[in-house]
Amino acid sequence: MTEKMIKAITKVLVIALLFTIVLILGVLYEHFTNEQFFQLRNQLQVIEKGVVLDGKDFFDGLNINEYRITWIESDGEVIYDSKASSDTMENHMEREEFKEALESGYGQSSRNSVTLSEKTLYSAKRLPDGSVLRVSTTQLSVISLVMSMLRPIFIIALVALILSVVFARRVSKKAIEPINNINLEDPLSNDVYEELSPLLLRIDKQNQKIKAQMDDLTQKNKEITYVIENVSDGIITLDKNGKVIMSNKKAEEIFSCSEGNYYLDFCRNLDYKFAVEEAFKGNSSTCVINIDNIVYKIYASTTKSENEDISVFLFISDVTDEESAQKMRREFTANVSHELKTPLSTILGSAELIENGIVKPAEIPYFAKKIHEEAARLLNLIQDIIKLSRLDEGNLTSEFVDIELFDICKSVRESLLEKSETREISIDIICDNSKIKGIKPVINEMIYNLCDNAITYNKEKGKVVIEVKTLDDKVSLKVSDTGIGIEKSDIPHIFERFYRVDKSRSKETGGTGLGLSIVKHGAELHKAKISVESEIDKGTTIEIQFPKIM
Ligand code: ADP
Repeated sequence: MTEKMIKAITKVLVIALLFTIVLILGVLYEHFTNEQFFQLRNQLQVIEKGVVLDGKDFFDGLNINEYRITWIESDGEVIYDSKASSDTMENHMEREEFKEALESGYGQSSRNSVTLSEKTLYSAKRLPDGSVLRVSTTQLSVISLVMSMLRPIFIIALVALILSVVFARRVSKKAIEPINNINLEDPLSNDVYEELSPLLLRIDKQNQKIKAQMDDLTQKNKEITYVIENVSDGIITLDKNGKVIMSNKKAEEIFSCSEGNYYLDFCRNLDYKFAVEEAFKGNSSTCVINIDNIVYKIYASTTKSENEDISVFLFISDVTDEESAQKMRREFTANVSHELKTPLSTILGSAELIENGIVKPAEIPYFAKKIHEEAARLLNLIQDIIKLSRLDEGNLTSEFVDIELFDICKSVRESLLEKSETREISIDIICDNSKIKGIKPVINEMIYNLCDNAITYNKEKGKVVIEVKTLDDKVSLKVSDTGIGIEKSDIPHIFERFYRVDKSRSKETGGTGLGLSIVKHGAELHKAKISVESEIDKGTTIEIQFPKIM
């Protein structure tokens, strides 16, 4: 901008200067011409007196080289000329100054020479006898004058040009300086040219807009970073060379990776390698890997940047629970098949023996009893499987109601009375008026299973105590027995499906191995905690802590 301003100012100054020179030359030239005419007129007056007095004789011995004197008859014929013979001169009738002098007594005119280098000034006066006396002189023409002054003009122009450039530099620097010093961060605080106010106002508005957008972007960026950093899954992006561009906290925790690491540096699993390679080929792929007994599922997919660079996005999820649930389901199916097969084989075998007449009539009641018992076991098993799958579905929340635990304990005791009396086992209930929010049949089933086990795994004439009390923030339900107890090593497993400490005893007593699994599922459904305390030959206490109704 400064350069442009300097050029513009210099141009204007040079043009103005040249124009001034031309104008001054013009004015001066005009002035000197008028001066010349004035001189001519004076000379004319002096010569006129002589001519009027002496006639043609006046010219004899007259030596004036500066001027040319011509005396012309009223018909235009030249009587005398100081520079040429009057005989050779043409008629002057048509000369402008002559005509004017004849008409008004005085006339003057100027004419350029053929080469335009000179200009002749004529001054003419009518004498009393009607003839005209003319005095003329030559001077340089404008062009010649300019040409003769070219050198000084050129020097003046050069000096003017240099001065113009210096001046233009100073002026533009002075003009630009405040603009250069404008504080664009706070445009309205600047004290510059008034003409810049609309621009500064606009810049201020733009600044505010940009600031708002920047704040918005920063906020969004923070939110995204927060989400990426705190998401429970690992996220990694790899550049086209397979190096980590970005990894979140979780990914760093899983792989101990960091920016710039090559993808195979932090995980050498083959499935993972193939999945990432596939992603680099443009195909999304998944793999499951196990690190320190935690199962991760990795989703590898391709992302293309604007410049067509392929990068890979890895999403790492902890699927240990899903994997173990799937494993449990597979094992459960295998176990169910096995558990169903055993009683069915016994039933089939016994029925076949009776059908083929192999069994003696006296032995038929024995086999019938066996079929009856195994069928009952089968029924129990199927009922327990149905109960478990209902709990597994987990969509029973709508059935939650307020439950008086004492009522349920009483009803359970009544249901188990026959079984407990057979073995002379007492069932005591110590219960306040504790209430919980729960699904009645499930709570009933849980307490029934605990009490059933407390009787089954008890000694003759043993004791079962059901104790319910409301604590600070929970309701505790304890079922204690004076039975055989459970080995410490077995305690973590007794809630697993089909787990029995003593398989033959459980079968003998009609157990399915699913009772405590149902208790565990029921507790999870009610957000309750289970704890077990047991001592061999002394007894077992299983406590369930329900959340208190607030
Ligand atoms: P089951 O139908 O065999 O009783 P459960 O799931 O109810 O199946 O119990 C799992 C195992 O835990 C039982 O087989 C038994 O060995 C043990 N058990 C459960 N409750 C008691 C208890 N009160 N005393 C001793 N052992 C118990």
